[in-house]
Amino acid sequence: MKKTVAIVGRPNVGKSTLFNRLVGERISIVEDTPGVTRDRIFADVSWLNYSFTLIDTGGIETDTDNLIPEMMRKQAQIAIDMADVIMFVVDGKAGLVPQDFEVADLLRKSKKPVIVIVNKVDNSRLPDDYYDFYQLGFDNMYAISSTQGLGLGDMLDEIVALF
Ligand code: GDP
Ligand code: MG
Repeated sequence: MKKTVAIVGRPNVGKSTLFNRLVGERISIVEDTPGVTRDRIFADVSWLNYSFTLIDTGGIETDTDNLIPEMMRKQAQIAIDMADVIMFVVDGKAGLVPQDFEVADLLRKSKKPVIVIVNKVDNSRLPDDYYDFYQLGFDNMYAISSTQGLGLGDMLDEIVALF
């Protein structure tokens, strides 16, 4: 059975940018305006001898009141339920924010393996507050830059190791 990997996280952390980078095509819409990806988007990704289905959920989008709109939460939940491995993307430039904890709580309930992906680490220096992300409660953490293409190999190695 082909494995499924879901990309989840609050808006604007770079989920769609990462999805497009891994798929090698511009499929998902990347926007500076949060909440643009409203549907689940699927594509196949190959890495080493593995091939898996990648899902850009865009689903855990929060509004200004910090509440997760119900329809999007449901979509994200479906993606989480389908996933063998969950890529939980956070923003290394913005640092840890309250919505990240909301997402973390949802993911913990899924009981699936979760990798925290600290995106927007655009050079070899980790941000000073990088280790704050361990407060989310997941041990498996990787720093990447989706725009610069940094750290993706190590991250993919870990994803396929979890299959
Ligand atoms: P999504 O809402 O989580 O899908 O986020 P998007 O992929 O739409 O990206 C939101 C913004 O973050 C866009 O302006 C992207 O260009 C930017 N972005 C994404 N990845 C990176 C990265 O690795 N480094 C930097 N500096 N910006 C990024
Ligand atoms: Mg998106």
